[in-house]
Amino acid sequence: MTKTIYPGQTIGIIGGGQLGRMMALSAREAGFKIAVLDPTMDSPCGQVADIQIVAPYDDEAALEELAEISDVITFEFENIDYEGLKRLTEIAYVPQGAEIIRITQNRVTEKEAIVNAGCPVAPYIVCESYEELVEKIDQIGFPSIVKTARFGYDGKGQQKLLSKEDLPLAKNLFDHSQCIVEGFIPFEKEISVIIQRNGNGETYCLPVGENVHINHILHETIVPARISTETKQLAEEAARKIAEHLQLIGTLAVEMFVLNDGQIIINELAPRPHNSGHYSIEACNISQFAQHIRAVAGWPLREPKLHSPVVMVNVLGQHVAPLSNSITKYPHWSIHLYGKKEAKVNRKMGHVTILTDSIEETLIEIEASGIWSE
Ligand code: AMP
Repeated sequence: MTKTIYPGQTIGIIGGGQLGRMMALSAREAGFKIAVLDPTMDSPCGQVADIQIVAPYDDEAALEELAEISDVITFEFENIDYEGLKRLTEIAYVPQGAEIIRITQNRVTEKEAIVNAGCPVAPYIVCESYEELVEKIDQIGFPSIVKTARFGYDGKGQQKLLSKEDLPLAKNLFDHSQCIVEGFIPFEKEISVIIQRNGNGETYCLPVGENVHINHILHETIVPARISTETKQLAEEAARKIAEHLQLIGTLAVEMFVLNDGQIIINELAPRPHNSGHYSIEACNISQFAQHIRAVAGWPLREPKLHSPVVMVNVLGQHVAPLSNSITKYPHWSIHLYGKKEAKVNRKMGHVTILTDSIEETLIEIEASGIWSE
């Protein structure tokens, strides 16, 4: 049953990272109160929340406390304990449900769901052990990528294989979980569609983003994506099919590869606001965070519109100091920093959004700034 949550009521967020922080900032604008569960005090979200519950995500008592003080509960990441979340759905209002977490936290169930929704994925097999990988690799061939079924992100838990000689490099991936092995897709571009749906089935996609990765970590998102109208339609159709199949409530990010003939292949899903949607804060009439809050609060959604072409560039640990030194030179840049204390190399610390009349000139400006040279 869909409930409506009103300003003054409390939204509970599981996970205190930057996605929770940006959800909370958006929800606070509308007058909601925020409670956050995170293992660390003053997490990025904790810093802007009304109430912080500091405990591990699977701590029963902490989850009960969150249930007690929250009128609705949402989450900002998918690696939460499924059983704990399922129990939470019995004692609290969790409109997104636990099933989408069970499906998307494992690449095997995730791929099955994408296929069952009628969408294309890379050729793949599931292997339980290294021995099984060696035995079955010919079914996929080379180049291929081995990915742990669970707990992979930003290229962690992955190994590219160019030939039989590389097989031993994938051995320790099996220490953590079963793996999938998929054919390497010679893609032309990576894109993502962020799709959002409320309990009444109202569904909207944000404008498609074109994603540039460096070392498997998202570097830039360019919107509108430089793709054909046909590819854009294919991408949105696929996102809609998957959202419908999963009976989505809230937000789903669908990452895809674009092939040189304009066809698409779905790479992976994230059941939450996504790094590639941060541009929407400045560039759209509704941000992914505001729309997410509307969806879980049972409010009607707004059709997203892009005000201006935009480039979003991530700020990793090594970029923080050079960015700080250059901030005064770029008044047209919107700076977002997430309040993380330690600027470790490759840790996502913030992002910069640049509205522009010329994507090409902005990409040159970013490069010429020297901030992202490491
Ligand atoms: P993932 O963790 O699945 O998002 O993979 C991280 C990145 O690795 C993707 O954004 C791609 O750049 C690359 N990648 C993953 N799977 C494949 C594939 N099957 N073929 C080519 N590149 C891939």
